[in-house]
Amino acid sequence: MAESSIRENLAEIKERIRAACNKSGRSPEDVTLIAVSKTKPNDAIIEACIAGQLHFGENRMQELQDKMESIELPGIKWHMIGTMQSNKIKYIADRVDWIHSVSKKKYLDEIEKRAVSADRTINALIQVNISGEDQKSGCEIDALEGILTHAKDLSHVKICGLMGMATFTDNPEDVREEFALLRTTMESHQYLNGGNIQLEELSMGMSGDFEVAIEEGSTMVRVGSAIFGSRNYG
Ligand SMILES: *Cc1c(COP(=O)(O)O)cnc(C)c1O
Repeated sequence: MAESSIRENLAEIKERIRAACNKSGRSPEDVTLIAVSKTKPNDAIIEACIAGQLHFGENRMQELQDKMESIELPGIKWHMIGTMQSNKIKYIADRVDWIHSVSKKKYLDEIEKRAVSADRTINALIQVNISGEDQKSGCEIDALEGILTHAKDLSHVKICGLMGMATFTDNPEDVREEFALLRTTMESHQYLNGGNIQLEELSMGMSGDFEVAIEEGSTMVRVGSAIFGSRNYG
């Protein structure tokens, strides 16, 4: 069976994003599609870029670093969406645009230090555990206020919102409440907005559940396999 092309897949995902926005009275312009290119070759990213896709997400710091160094295309934006390793932040800080997976103060401090050295500001999202499964990374909701208060002192990190990973399920309706929880968690912390804290982005939704995530307020969907095909690992 022939696989459909990256270009066709992107067009289909964008159409589904539009439909989910229509259904929930939102504007498609308020939802950024992040193409999750982990494990996929540079050629796949370039093909997506030629089709007009500019935002790409990677979940391993080393792979992100390698791809950022070897792919230089105008307007391309890089998102770190996976588990952080403090000792590798220095290798991505000069190029990465967004880091979605900040769950501890120590990562904020390291991003700040490296962003100062690189003389740039990095956009960050705080990853919150919404699934209740403890193997999923992300801070507990109770810890969020402390992390945000800590972030207020930073000059080169902008906190733009929250990121969450829903429980893995075949039926996206099962995780609607988890997405709604991330939204209400953001709303209940917006009193901290000011300076470098501007909570307005919600990074939630993947290939299997992005439509429900959009209905619940997602502004950044992280879609991998529905664009690039299935992966053997990662
Ligand atoms: C892999 C990954 C995705 C994309 O997953 P798909 O199911 O392939 O769309 C999204 N977010 C994170 C954090 C990931 O690691």
